[in-house]
Amino acid sequence: MRLTGLHLLLTYECNFECDHCFVWSGPRQSGTMTVEQIDDILHQAKDTETIEWIYFEGGEPVLYYALLRYGVRQASKMGFRVGVVSNAYWATGPGDALECLRDLAGSVQDLAMSCDGFHGDDEQIRHVQCARKAARALHIPTGTIAVAESGTEAKSAVGQLPEGESGVMHRGRAAEKLAPLAPKRRWSEMTECPYEDLREPGRVHVDPFGNLHICQGISIGNLFQRPLREICASYNPVAHPITGPLHEGGPVELADRYGVAHSEGYADACHFCYETRRALRPRFPEVLIPDQMYGCPGS
Ligand code: SF4
Repeated sequence: MRLTGLHLLLTYECNFECDHCFVWSGPRQSGTMTVEQIDDILHQAKDTETIEWIYFEGGEPVLYYALLRYGVRQASKMGFRVGVVSNAYWATGPGDALECLRDLAGSVQDLAMSCDGFHGDDEQIRHVQCARKAARALHIPTGTIAVAESGTEAKSAVGQLPEGESGVMHRGRAAEKLAPLAPKRRWSEMTECPYEDLREPGRVHVDPFGNLHICQGISIGNLFQRPLREICASYNPVAHPITGPLHEGGPVELADRYGVAHSEGYADACHFCYETRRALRPRFPEVLIPDQMYGCPGS
């Protein structure tokens, strides 16, 4: 596995609790990286000799601003290209946006901001506009992440949705909150994973516990226990107990291989995959983790 990007889930916490969130982020979530862990992760990323991009996301990474600023500066100093994904809640006015972004200028090559109906109202859109304007003044390139309403599938919807918009993928909280509202497709059609390259992913996510996610909630190793370089070198998508069947025949094969009962219809492949994985968690406790990816611990 040759990675070119590593996405750090700086925290599972978020000021919002969006229905479409596939990592179950929200104010009641827990799990945040430390400065020492960021140092460790960045050095391991460097050691792969292939990773070019480091992204800081969450949750909402700006909730832990000092940590984010530290991580961004370190990553930039180490020669990585750096991205930040945020909902721009902090850009309450033009001056506030400038002050927040000033310390990141020169170190960030992509500031991606969520801007859609799930993230709130006109006020939130105004925040994104303030953030974009400040970023322009500071020469920070920006992008937008917009998720269309449920019922439009991400991949098949390309070309039918406004530019830059993608559909909901019904995993995580979206599987619980939005899938019941979406039209259903027959389970037997879902014979492939439509969104992730499980064989050669290119980029993966690492969470505050060190779990390396090939898709949210599917771990291929823990880089606090085993070096990232080793995990990459030994990753075998066919032998992995979850990506193996998913790669071979999508959620249909995953359910079939382990004898998991299924419904007649699902909102999309991710919905079927996520529900099947939930049922398999007791059987693969080292792989289908952490609890944060499958709900809010303690709630
Ligand atoms: S089908 Fe499963 S592995 Fe593929 S993107 Fe959806 S949730 Fe992830």
